[in-house]
Parts: sequence; structure tokens; C-alpha cells
Amino acid sequence: MLIPHSQYPVRQTMKKGESLAGYLYRFQGGNGHRIARRLEHTLGALYRGTATDAPPAAFDTLQMLLGTSTELDRTWWLRKRRLPKCSNGHENSRPGLDVVPVRFCVLCLSECGFDFALWELPQIAACPVHQIRLYERCVLCGKTFSWSDLMPDWFCACGQSITNAPITLASRNQLLFAQLLAGSEDVDLPSRFNNCDESSISKGYTLSEVYAGLEWGSRLRKALCRDGHRSHKPIQSKWSHRPYWSDDWIVVLIMASPDELRHRILRILARRFRGHKDLLCSVSKLDWLYRMMQFVDTGSYGYFQMKIQVVVAQMLADYQLKLPISSAVFYNPWISPTRRYENQTRLMHWWANLSKRIGDLDPEMLRYQQTTVIPPIKYGKREYELELVDILNRLSSVAFEQADLTDCRALIYWWRIPKELRELRSPSDVLQQLGLHLTVIPDYELYFVGSLVRLACPEKPA
Ligand SMILES: [Zn+2]
Ligand SMILES: [Zn+2]
Repeated sequence: MLIPHSQYPVRQTMKKGESLAGYLYRFQGGNGHRIARRLEHTLGALYRGTATDAPPAAFDTLQMLLGTSTELDRTWWLRKRRLPKCSNGHENSRPGLDVVPVRFCVLCLSECGFDFALWELPQIAACPVHQIRLYERCVLCGKTFSWSDLMPDWFCACGQSITNAPITLASRNQLLFAQLLAGSEDVDLPSRFNNCDESSISKGYTLSEVYAGLEWGSRLRKALCRDGHRSHKPIQSKWSHRPYWSDDWIVVLIMASPDELRHRILRILARRFRGHKDLLCSVSKLDWLYRMMQFVDTGSYGYFQMKIQVVVAQMLADYQLKLPISSAVFYNPWISPTRRYENQTRLMHWWANLSKRIGDLDPEMLRYQQTTVIPPIKYGKREYELELVDILNRLSSVAFEQADLTDCRALIYWWRIPKELRELRSPSDVLQQLGLHLTVIPDYELYFVGSLVRLACPEKPA
């Protein structure tokens, strides 16, 4: 049974921005007690908010303990829960708070004499005011701090004073992230933060948006780094239990300007396709990259995702070859836009020459194909789609090498194309139009064209 605060002789009040657990510790300490395990357990249930009925029960217990002198905000405390693993960043509640380990800004603590609620937010590691790292492990005994182990007046169980602990400077990213969190509208800041508002970035977002942005960013990163074959294998297994990543890449990502963002995403994408020589890359429905694009196409987004969404959508507009097939087809990000354009220009000229020699598709045949072959038959058939992309890649590489048209004898002799395909005047249009045509021809014809193209452009020695 926990004894209500009204029955203690010394009754300290809770400060603005003070951590609830820190307040209870201070209150108990003022009366010569430590935090009881049972109380710590109740705090843990409220802070983490995992099970469905434990947090309301814990809330009621703690409110009873505090009595009428301190009213806890019920909606704030009970709205949080751990992010589920697969919310795709759409989860609208913030994650639970960290009751362990207890973190301190050594300087804030010695100046104010109480611990801040801000330090309980998951992943926070620095004080934005003092720009130092938060202290969470005793320098003397090496233990991480917990409320029930701490001795009154900010001493570790081993006797080491916390307010006299050595300080370490925070890294730039730790600081950025702390500023990001401190800038949330719904975080209860101590009054000493009032005059350092300019250090935090633009306001207008909530904690849940920050954490949803982090989760989304980590999914985006996964999408960019992994490919379909390895998608079941986490990149770094030590983080596999975390619902979102908290590393610097993502923190910087959600705080970056649109230009920086684009640059970062492209760089990582280029790394993924390093070594691909083809102009086009095909990405299957099962690939994380494809899932990322679905993020962009669907869903309502939070404050931070919106910015990333706009940049990703622009990138897709620049790099995607839009075809009515289920795989996504990209221009190889490893090939620079300038080189890609040169490549496309050569293809346009080469194709203009080649298409002059290819016979017309019989109008009746064309009509037959158009009436029988809608909707596109290649949709969802990965092997046909790969054949299609292979044809486009071989044509563009043979054009790039300025291959002799006599090598394409069989293609010229056997293939028939509609009139529109002869009149392609824009370099960026050739692959698009050829691709569109290949999506509507029957499968057997696609394979036939594929074998003719392979005859003209045999596999290069690797
Ligand atoms: Zn501080
Ligand atoms: Zn210690």
C-alpha cells in the first residue's frame, strides 16, 4: 500500500517541466525515503504503457498518491503506447517514456535541483541548453541509474554525487535531435527553456509526429538499402528489436532541407545499384523500394513525412519510367542524369535509323491487338516484365555502342511496329514509347522480339 503524499510531513510541490518519477523521488527523499520497488513498478507501467489496462490502473494509483495538490494530465499520460512494428509511420501516438535508465543533464540538475520530463523521452541523449551529453551511467560503479537505486539528494547507490559528475560534450546529431524533441508542442518544458526557443527548429509539430517521422524515416532507409532477395535479413541485427531507428541518418533526414534530402536519398540509392551497367533497373513488387513508393502514393502523412514525401515523389518523377506494369522501372541512379541523357539521345538517333527499316504493323493486326489486349497482359507477370526491361536495356546499350544496323537484320526483317513508333523526337520519349508498345503486344510476340533483339545484341562478356 502506497502512502498518500498528504500524510508526509515534508510536502514539496512539483515543478513545471519536472519528471513525474523525479518528483516522486524528490518528495520521498525530502522525507528521508527512497523510491520503493513497488512504486517504481507502478511508474514503469504508466511510463511504458504496454499492456492495455495496466496504464489506467497505474495512473489512478499515482493520482491517488499525489492527491489533489498535483493533477496529472490524463489524456497526455494515457495516449501513448509503444509503436507497433509495422505502422508504416502512420501511428498517431507517441511511444512510451523511458523510466529506465534515468538520465540527467548534470548542469541542469545542479542549477535547478530537479530532473526534467524531457530527459524521459526515448532516444534523447543531449541537453539542448548546455549542449552536453545526458548522464545515465555512474562513472564510479558503471551502473545505469534507476529511481529505486538512487540515494536521496542525487547520489548513486555507490555514493558518487550526480551533480558533481564529469560532463561530456554532445555530438551535433544528438544535439539536433534533442532540439527537435524540445521543439514539440506537447512537451512540458521547464521555465529555463523559455529563453532559448531560437535554438529549436520550427514549431507546429507534436512528439508523436517526431517519433512517427523517425519510424517512417527508418522504413525509408530500409527501402533504400535492402533489395528483395535480402529483405528478410536485417542490416544490423542488434537493432532488429526496435520499432524504428534512432541513428543519425534519420535524425538528419527529418531535419534536412529538401535539397539535402534529395542528395542523401540519391546517394544511398546509387550505392544500391552500384555495378549495374544497364540504363534501366526493374524493381519487383516485393522489393522494399517498391514499398517505399507506395508510401509516397498512399496515406496521409505527418509533419516530417510530408517533406520527405514531396522529395521522393520528385525523385520518382525524375527517375521512374512509367509503364502500366506491376514492377517499377527506374533509370539507373548510378548513371548520372547527364550520361543518361547522352545515352537517350544516341538511342533516339539510332532508333530513328533502325525504325525506318522496320516494316509497318498491319492496321488490322494493330486493331486486333488493341481490342484483345486490354487491360495490359503483362501486369503481375514478373518474367514478362523482366523480358520487357531486358529488351529496352539491350536496345539502349546497342545504340550506345553505335552497333551496325546490319547486325539487326533479323529484327528488321521480322518485327513490325505501329507508325507512331517511328516518329519519336524527344530523347526521353524513346524508351517510354517502346516500353508502352511492348506492354500491349501479346506475350509470345514479346518473347519473339526479345529473341530477335538478343540476336542483334548478344550478351557482352562480363
Ligand atoms: Zn542542461
Ligand atoms: Zn555509482
